[in-house]
Amino acid sequence: MLDVSRHFFTPAEVKALLAKLAQYKFNKFHWHLTDDQGWRVEIKSRPELTSKGGFRDPALHNHDIMAAKRAADENDPTSLLPQDRLVSRDGKTLYGGYYTQDEIRDIVAYAASLGMDVIPEIDMPGHSLRIIESYPELSCSGRAVWGKDFSVPLCPGNDATIRFAKDVYKEIFGLFPYGYVHIGADEVEKSHWAACPKCQARKAEYGLADEHDLQDWFVKELENFCNENGKTVIGWDEIASKPEFSKDAVVQWWRPWAPATKENAVKNGNGIILCPNEFYYMDLAQNRNTLMKVYCHEPVDEILYGHEDQVLGVHGNLWTEYVTSFESVCDKLFPRMFAVSETAWSEPEKKDAADFNRRVIAHLEKLDECGWNYRIPDPDGFCDLNVFTDSAVVSVTVPFDGVVVRYTSDGSIPGPDSDVMDGPMTIKEDCILKIRPFTSSGIGGQTYTARWSVSDYAEPAFGCDSGAAYPEGCAAGLMTWRFDGKFPDCMALSSAAPDAEFVSETVVLPAEPSSDFGLMFKGYVRIPEDGIWSFYTYTDDGSVMTISGRTAVENDGLHSRDEKSGQVALRKGWHPVEIRYFDHGGGFMEAGFILPDGTRRPFTKEDLCYSEM
Ligand SMILES: [Zn+2]
Repeated sequence: MLDVSRHFFTPAEVKALLAKLAQYKFNKFHWHLTDDQGWRVEIKSRPELTSKGGFRDPALHNHDIMAAKRAADENDPTSLLPQDRLVSRDGKTLYGGYYTQDEIRDIVAYAASLGMDVIPEIDMPGHSLRIIESYPELSCSGRAVWGKDFSVPLCPGNDATIRFAKDVYKEIFGLFPYGYVHIGADEVEKSHWAACPKCQARKAEYGLADEHDLQDWFVKELENFCNENGKTVIGWDEIASKPEFSKDAVVQWWRPWAPATKENAVKNGNGIILCPNEFYYMDLAQNRNTLMKVYCHEPVDEILYGHEDQVLGVHGNLWTEYVTSFESVCDKLFPRMFAVSETAWSEPEKKDAADFNRRVIAHLEKLDECGWNYRIPDPDGFCDLNVFTDSAVVSVTVPFDGVVVRYTSDGSIPGPDSDVMDGPMTIKEDCILKIRPFTSSGIGGQTYTARWSVSDYAEPAFGCDSGAAYPEGCAAGLMTWRFDGKFPDCMALSSAAPDAEFVSETVVLPAEPSSDFGLMFKGYVRIPEDGIWSFYTYTDDGSVMTISGRTAVENDGLHSRDEKSGQVALRKGWHPVEIRYFDHGGGFMEAGFILPDGTRRPFTKEDLCYSEM
């Protein structure tokens, strides 16, 4: 799914993208053509939808303002609005664009030549601000404004709204030959309906109990019209909010926090398309672990076991509130869409993460050679916090030769003219480097901030030469304290009283953690030889690791799954280790060593012990 409402992409860009995705066995294109931020499909009976609704003032548009700020803050020209989408009108510069019906037909025919069906989405009754701006009489209050949670929707009590919807869909049916249309039906602000005489009259007319029933009535009205015209409807999983609903509609399940809609769809016998937000929303931020998170997700879960025949497919969504350029689209989609495709087409037991990673690199190299953008895999060879005793020799490694690593030492974000790090670099003084890889087309990837500081070796608490598995008086595992409650960060655990005390075999979450809690692990970690040792934590939410009283990893704060890394200079032996962690509502935790080749190795039972005294 490509959202062309929040930002517009040209017919040539859409066709290029479809051709690329077809190579990766995507065979449906869900085209999100309308939303509060722009109407992108020509409707001949309602020309103002595009003449007015296709354009906006970027200086007044929050998404555009934030994208421009990011372009400046992160030295990222791919966050700028492309010049060819700016037009001058009445002395103002407007942003936008739309597809003529001829352009739509051309793209649909091109998609067909690639073996790809196109599913248009015209989202109603919510996400309709651009309709209401041009046709204010179609909303309850006549005003195109935002409500408490979402934008004010169309007025389903008004017969003109129903006529409007049918007129629009009639033209859509003529443009898109595929048997499915997407009617949206998500995120509807219903508060205005409660105060609208027309909406209340509609409820009385059909004996509808509340505004949810009114929404269902509107959706059913649209669905009937689509069915009469030979189309099956797809809707976001809000259409499955009640156990009983249309058996013919296809449910697009996107909300991991609303499993009931998936259960309703299963029991009701509907077709289901899976795009769980946390995994298949391509607009979500990326980090070192995102690709594997997408790859390892298996969307057919216990709710769907035995009902696999109802699963029509999986689906990657790219919402473009903050995605302004085609380069940025590609940064979001590649390589994550490779992982979505492999999940779509592979039996779970045939998936192989290591082999996938190897193939991903080869395909990214191909994209690079063709001048396409992609998210550059994280360079290795440094941590977030690095130490050295006399000097450090830094060798940053990249996935393939096309990628160029540039750096600065003055705090600025590296640009295409910054110094190249093209071999081992010796560091002799404390410093902070900004390190950024660039594609061979010169597009900058993520910027990494790495600190180097001079350090001496920490001495161990116990030797490890005795031949015993653990020092005398110690046993396998880490002492662990659980703190129930909502903590703002790891440091807040210092002043809390523990609710439970137990021994953990290694650094893992308890089997049945409560939803808001903190953990503190204490014990010793075995360091097999003198050296600069690298560690990581990969957690949701925050974590902090200290070794021999020194900060090894600083990964604190509220965040989704994210990794931070750091180094400590350690003499051979057993060193005191403390790991703090806290979570708000659904956590994840992994911690361990980073090996010289960049491999992350979680702590094992052999690495850890605690004092029984
Ligand atoms: Zn109304």
